[in-house]
Amino acid sequence: RVKQQGGNLITTLPKDAHSKLSRRVEIEKELLVALDQQNLEVVYLPILDTASKKVTSFEALVRWESDVLGQVSPEELIPIAEQTGLINDLGTFVLEKSCKQAAEWHQKGYDIKVNVNLSVREFHDKNMPRIITQILQQTGCPANRLQIEITEKFALEAESEKAIIEQMHALNREGIRFVLDDFGTGYASLRYLQILPIESLKIDRTFIQSMTQNDKVMRLIKGMVSLGHSLQIRVLAEGIETEQQAKQLQSMGCDGLQGFHFSKPLKSTELETYFQS
Ligand code: C2E
Ligand code: MG
Ligand code: MG
Ligand code: MG
Repeated sequence: RVKQQGGNLITTLPKDAHSKLSRRVEIEKELLVALDQQNLEVVYLPILDTASKKVTSFEALVRWESDVLGQVSPEELIPIAEQTGLINDLGTFVLEKSCKQAAEWHQKGYDIKVNVNLSVREFHDKNMPRIITQILQQTGCPANRLQIEITEKFALEAESEKAIIEQMHALNREGIRFVLDDFGTGYASLRYLQILPIESLKIDRTFIQSMTQNDKVMRLIKGMVSLGHSLQIRVLAEGIETEQQAKQLQSMGCDGLQGFHFSKPLKSTELETYFQS
């Protein structure tokens, strides 16, 4: 093939940087269309109570199969959505779907909550509490059936921090609970436990994956459990793939368990049979 002489600046970027950039731009463009057409899905991953092994909640996870790009994973999608400001629309979409689902469980008499992941970034929008309250009202989902999982991948800016904390407390007073996700890996986990109304913490999957081969990790998990309990915070573990991990986490006092050992994420249509069985 004959090498083209590009006259334009972007072609002087390293090949890798160029393709990364164009992928980002394409994801942003397609996501905008997908959100507009409500063309995304939500799947549900059960969270079990350790003692009873009963499902107490389902975590909502966004799935996007673009006509143009194929499956785009949340790991790739969420950071781009956060950087472009599309995260708020994405969050609203997932909240609406999830609360509708939780309202249905409520109406059918199941005592099951829904966990929705929201980026702390989304709380930069001062309207967030009003939007969430509206979605609860419109869908008929009781506030105490919604749990919001937050991850702190960024430091909060000092000016916005106070307002964000206040918003979360206001939502908490209405009955919404907060879960600190990916615990142990974040930017300021301990500070968040101090200042935010956290009801549960979820020990990050990376600890669970290495615990059986690494005694130090085992001790870290034990420490996280006792830290949580000393603050009256429930302790959950995510990413459980084996019976051995589940047993050990139970013996260490984890209150809730989640992972592919129990179930893969399920589509809304697959949940029906999950309840009937
Ligand atoms: P997360 O909230 O920590 O969710 C857990 C992730 O680990 C999910 O990946 C889930 O499918 C996966 N997982 C759970 N158990 C296991 C296991 O036993 N083994 C393995 N290998 N994986 C397991 P997913 O759905 O790809 O989501 C990745 C991350 O993207 C989430 O981490 C969350 O931070 C973010 N995310 C997903 N959906 C949303 C959303 O609707 N909104 C926001 N803001 N973030 C989301
Ligand atoms: Mg989560
Ligand atoms: Mg997590
Ligand atoms: Mg994670």
